[in-house]
Amino acid sequence: MFESLSERLGGVFDRLRGRGALNESDVREAMREVRIALLEADVALPVVRTFVEKVTEQAVGQNVLRSVTPGQQVVKIVHDALVDTLGAEASDLELEVTPPAIVMMVGLQGSGKTTTTAKIAKRLTEKGRKKVMMASLDVNRPAAQEQLATLGAQASVATLPIVPGQQPVDIARRALQAAKLQGFDVLMLDTAGRLHVDQALMDEMKAVASVSEPDEILLVVDALTGQDAVNVAKSFSEQVALSGVVLTRMDGDARGGAALSMRAVTGKPIKFVGTGEKLDGIELFQPSRVAGRILG
Ligand code: GDP
Repeated sequence: MFESLSERLGGVFDRLRGRGALNESDVREAMREVRIALLEADVALPVVRTFVEKVTEQAVGQNVLRSVTPGQQVVKIVHDALVDTLGAEASDLELEVTPPAIVMMVGLQGSGKTTTTAKIAKRLTEKGRKKVMMASLDVNRPAAQEQLATLGAQASVATLPIVPGQQPVDIARRALQAAKLQGFDVLMLDTAGRLHVDQALMDEMKAVASVSEPDEILLVVDALTGQDAVNVAKSFSEQVALSGVVLTRMDGDARGGAALSMRAVTGKPIKFVGTGEKLDGIELFQPSRVAGRILG
């Protein structure tokens, strides 16, 4: 579908063979190709600019290695810088606290937040051998609470019984109390989704965060929304102390550029990627795999 970055750079560097070092004008020319590759992978423009500046500085003056072509060398420099920016290592949830650990899920409606809540709960139950309870605080979208209960039944994860008419902050308090009394290790709070960034819902989310004091606040973002994902991440990170990001729909044809944008904008690690509609469709985020995908 896309020309890979190494293919693009092949042409740029053909005439450079046999020279001593990567000079500034060659690197700048190569960086034009890098820029296009990143934009095609859906990395947000301001993030591309900063990244390209940083890589240019690193590449200029590097000796041209005998073992690889200059093009391959630049690809490697870019790849390493991507991995570095993406966070180098996979980072899991940090839940080693006095139970129950609280995980709060936030994001736009349709991002995959409710499904991701159930996926993480299932994973913690099966892999982490934790006793997990989920509670939906979404009183806006009809049947949101029932949707989580259905997913809980499918995943064999407990959900807080629904009390019609109860408001989010009160549901959060009740969930906390139930999780404590019933000896759950982890309580996952699925907050209301929203169609766009909306201050009333932001205030509600802040109120929930202040009563529940989450150990993790995960922002769920659809990888296919590429450029828009940046605005979403910015708004949420200005309102609550995010601890990480989950990128959903990485099973689709997203090139993964949103990952780089998320990390740059929030400064927080991407912890998981969603890889399908099924409840097993979730993996720990692997920076080097995504860097490869961004470069094509
Ligand atoms: P919410 O409104 O953010 O809670 O979104 P939902 O959890 O209801 O998900 C919306 C749709 O996206 C559902 O059909 C999910 O099955 C689907 N979905 C969620 N995560 C993924 C994913 O990683 N890959 C794919 N292909 N579909 C997903």
